[in-house]
Amino acid sequence: MKFNSYFNDIADSYLFAEVAARTAKYAAAHPDKKILRLGIGDVTLPLAPEVIKSLHAAVDDMSAKETFQGYGPYEGYEFLRERIRNYYSSYGVKLALDEIFVSDGAKSDLGNVLDIFSRDNTVLVPDPVYPVYVDTNVMAGRKIIYADATEQNGFLPMPDYSVKADIIYICSPNNPTGAAYTREQLKEWVDYANSLGAVILYDAAYECFISDDRLARSIFTVDGARTCAIEFCSFSKTAGFTGTRCGYTVVPKELTRDGFSANKMWLRRQSTKFNGVPYIVQRGAAAVFTDEGLKEIRANIAYYKNNAKLIAGVMDGLGIKYTGGKNSPYIWLKCPNGMSSWEFFDYLLENAQVVGTPGAGFGRNGEGYFRLTAFGSEEVTREATQRIQKLLKK
Ligand code: PLP
Repeated sequence: MKFNSYFNDIADSYLFAEVAARTAKYAAAHPDKKILRLGIGDVTLPLAPEVIKSLHAAVDDMSAKETFQGYGPYEGYEFLRERIRNYYSSYGVKLALDEIFVSDGAKSDLGNVLDIFSRDNTVLVPDPVYPVYVDTNVMAGRKIIYADATEQNGFLPMPDYSVKADIIYICSPNNPTGAAYTREQLKEWVDYANSLGAVILYDAAYECFISDDRLARSIFTVDGARTCAIEFCSFSKTAGFTGTRCGYTVVPKELTRDGFSANKMWLRRQSTKFNGVPYIVQRGAAAVFTDEGLKEIRANIAYYKNNAKLIAGVMDGLGIKYTGGKNSPYIWLKCPNGMSSWEFFDYLLENAQVVGTPGAGFGRNGEGYFRLTAFGSEEVTREATQRIQKLLKK
């Protein structure tokens, strides 16, 4: 027996472990200091009341013979897929019900989707990047090339026709940079992918933070995307489901190559390796896309966006360059005074007791940058930004 030796090639998940270790060391040495965390990517507000109501009702369903549910459909219950379809049509995207697949979150599907692709594909990943895209491909032994996201291109790399990619990852609004593509920019990626016969794996996990109409809520708002894209989305950031677990993936029927249909392959993959998301969770998720549910989750998103505005406002006042913060929960800032990511991490921790995430942990181009998130409480965000302002104004 041999283990998968490609695991040797995966970088250690050093970033968050190192952040935790440095923070714990500082806390142990300074027990009197209150540490404020703006580094986490997890939400802090509870589930919306409509969701809770629906979860409770679904638990009751499971207690009676007439309403009890056993195994559900691999691709998700129709009651949820109908709601997801209606949500898409609210911004002009028409989907067939059997193009929507309910999952236990975007991360699983982003990794699992690789089952339907050959190992001999070249993968194009932006740098800096959400590490899951890289690690899942390294585990499978695929060749990865990078598209540089830099200050010069506004952290939004555009296609380079001299580069031949087969699988292209796009995350918009982006984690970690908070930058988001317009429909016109995405159209260029769609044209590039179609011209090469490549596929775009489009991560829309932060779609709900978009309020600027020029930005794309879905890659399927762009002409031509149905022949080259798969979209991953999630209730995690939309509705606080990070611990409840539910997401959805859209695989259009027009995405075919050499007689293979991505939609059919994905259904086959899911029905072979996945037995569906719990009925109770899907009932909770379905409540998100009701009128009342949408009203409630939009209030939560507005709360986080207000935190983002507080952080961005302080950066503006200090003259620090950043992206994100407007259509994204992330603020990606340039470390002041030429500090490296980790130098700035230590400086903030030691002098303001604020914890963020060093950009270097997201890739080569992240060096010299730093990520702050808007997912904390308003009180913590307010106090942390005041401390940052006081420290950096000097
Ligand atoms: N995609 C991006 C870009 C993320 O930042 C995250 C979570 O942080 C995910 C996907 C994972 O989402 P889920 O909780 O649905 O697995």
